[in-house]
Formats: sequence, structure tokens, C-alpha cells
Amino acid sequence: MQKLSPSSWLVSAGRPEEPGAPLNMPLVPASNFLLGGDREYARDGGTPTWEALEGIIGNLEGGEALAFSSGMAAAAAVFDQLESGARVVLPDDCYQGVVHLARVGAGKGRYRVNRIATEDTTGWIEAAGDADLLWLESPSNPLLKVADLRAICTAPRKPGAILAVDNTFATPLNQQPLRLGADISMHSATKFIGGHSDLLAGMLVARDALLLGSLRQSRTLGGATPGTLEAWLAVRGLRTLALRFERAQQNAAALAEWLENHPMVELVRYPGLRSHPGHALAAAQLDGFGTMISFDVTGGAAGADAVCRALRLVRHASSLGAVESTMERRASNAGQEHLPPSLLRLSVGIESLEDLKSDLDQALRAAEDREKL
Ligand SMILES: *Cc1c(COP(=O)(O)O)cnc(C)c1O
Repeated sequence: MQKLSPSSWLVSAGRPEEPGAPLNMPLVPASNFLLGGDREYARDGGTPTWEALEGIIGNLEGGEALAFSSGMAAAAAVFDQLESGARVVLPDDCYQGVVHLARVGAGKGRYRVNRIATEDTTGWIEAAGDADLLWLESPSNPLLKVADLRAICTAPRKPGAILAVDNTFATPLNQQPLRLGADISMHSATKFIGGHSDLLAGMLVARDALLLGSLRQSRTLGGATPGTLEAWLAVRGLRTLALRFERAQQNAAALAEWLENHPMVELVRYPGLRSHPGHALAAAQLDGFGTMISFDVTGGAAGADAVCRALRLVRHASSLGAVESTMERRASNAGQEHLPPSLLRLSVGIESLEDLKSDLDQALRAAEDREKL
């Protein structure tokens, strides 16, 4: 068959082919299979439902995918590759769960952890020479920083070192880290891949057979396998990923510009804005600027909390990447106190742009009225 565009692949891949089969890969609730076939027990051999998910994502990112029970389970399988005394480098802006995972491991003496600013390309290139795990996240959560992945991924690395990229914010549509030279691309499939706030799942994509075998072993031994229903829902979510993401991305671009001109907003971080320090790099490296915006409002933490309380359409919730827009004040989370206190992280959904604008506007103005009281 001709090479399909990603949007057609998302719709058509991972379907049964036999005459009389259902169009969709069925939900196969099985732990155990009759002996003599190519799988015996689901924790080792997977199920047809997870394999549909893995096949869709692996092909999009130019590697082979492994599905996990959550994004953190996927990240933990990468950290499980480290030998004692290893050197780990994390970006300064990084998903808090991954930072926590690394801190706990370092606290137990398993490895040492350094942080390097996402945009400090020279620092990353220098670190590549003696780090055992370089963990990048771009665009980053929640500051939307952009790393020069191509430059960092092609810098000489210590033999056996692993370079992993958390690709959650970009999705397989906007960025394929393996094609830029990364060893592993990681996703919280809980977010855009699932897209409906109704499942937890994670993905790793890699090319190297030894690395894949070792990651698979970590999954089998750690038992961090995806649920069958979750894998099925993730496939269901992927069917509309291109449509959802395109719409949400258009909304985000328009909202970012609108917010930048709003009197109650002090600073907007969105890689698609010319004012964003990583704009040129993002334009060259990504196929789109994504659906995540973070912005600081007037009135400090109290002002930002008041905005969240006044929301009507946008959900005041922590997670992201779904059809519904969600927003929260990030510094209200434990471990996130280093962030600007009034930073709101907005995950833009597929609602009408006008409705989103008017909800954000009334919430920002309601907060302003409170300040005046
Ligand atoms: C949510 C998230 C994770 C963790 O994934 P879970 O599915 O919640 O375990 C990792 N990285 C990023 C960027 C995320 O947004």
C-alpha cells in the first residue's frame, strides 16, 4: 500500500483484516492463551488489543512501541535501565512525576541527578559525553520551553547512554524524536493519545533491538502492563487524534494571541507566539505549536485562584490533552512552588473559540472585580 499520511494511518491502522472480522480491533479481555500460538500469557506476550495500539504509535514515530499502564510506568521502565552509580540529566522544567521519580532513586543512592536548563544546548551537548541517561522534555510542562533536540541528540554520547524525550506535549503528529536522533520517545497516552480524560496509559517507542528487549523486560518484570480496556480506549482515541489536535491547536494559537493582549494577563508562554524565546526553534523543529498555553495573570496566586474559581466552560482540573479545555494554577501543586505563583496552565480543547474566549474573559474580569473589593 502507498505510504499513508499520519491522519489516514491513525484512522486505518490496527484493524483486523480477516473476512468477517469486526472493523475494530475487539477488546480482548485475556490473561491466558491456548498454548501453541505466538503468545501464552498476556503480561509477557501482550494481547491483540494492546498490539493494535503499539502498532499505530510505533509506525508514526518510526520505531517499535511498547504500551504501559501509565506514562509514569513508561518513564520508570527507562530509569530501570540504569546501573548503580549512573549519571542522569534532567531538564530544569520537567514533568513533576519524573522529577520525583529521579529524586527518590537518587535519594536511595542508585544514581546521581543533574539538572540543565532546557534551552542550554551547549550544556546538554557537554553533558552527553558522560551522562548515562539524558532525559529531555520538549515542549516542556508547564513552561513550554523548547530544547534543540536535533543538536542534542546528535552530540557524541557515552557508549550505552540513553537519550529519551518525553514527547507528550508534541504528540506523534508534531514531533518524532527518534527521527531527530533520540533513542526513546515517551508518551503519557493518558493525555492527547487517549484524549478524553478517561484512561491512564503510557508508551515508549525505540528502534534498537537490545534496548527494546530490555524495556520490554522491565515491563514484564515490573508488571506495568496496560489494561485491556485502556488500550482499546486509546485506539479509539487515536482515530480522531489528528482532527482533535488540529482544532485544539488552532484554538490555542488564537487564544495565545488574544491572551497576550488581555489587560489582566502579564505574560503568555506559547511556542507559536513571536514573543516566545524558543519560537524560531519550535517553528523549525515541530510540525505545529501544540495546544498548551501557560500564562501569568495579575493579582498573584490569589488572582489566579479567583480566575480558576470563576471558570464556567473551561474545567478547573489538572490533567491535559483532552477534548475539553482544562486549566489550573500549577504552583498550587506540591513540588511546583518554584513556578511563578500566578501561572495558569491551560490545555486548550476543541470547544468553539468564541465560547472559550468569552469564558476566559469573564473569569479574568470576575477576578479583577474581586481584587477591587
Ligand atoms: C501526565 C504526564 C506524564 C505522566 O503520565 P501519567 O500517564 O500521568 O503517568 C509525563 N509527562 C508529561 C509531560 C505529562 O504531562
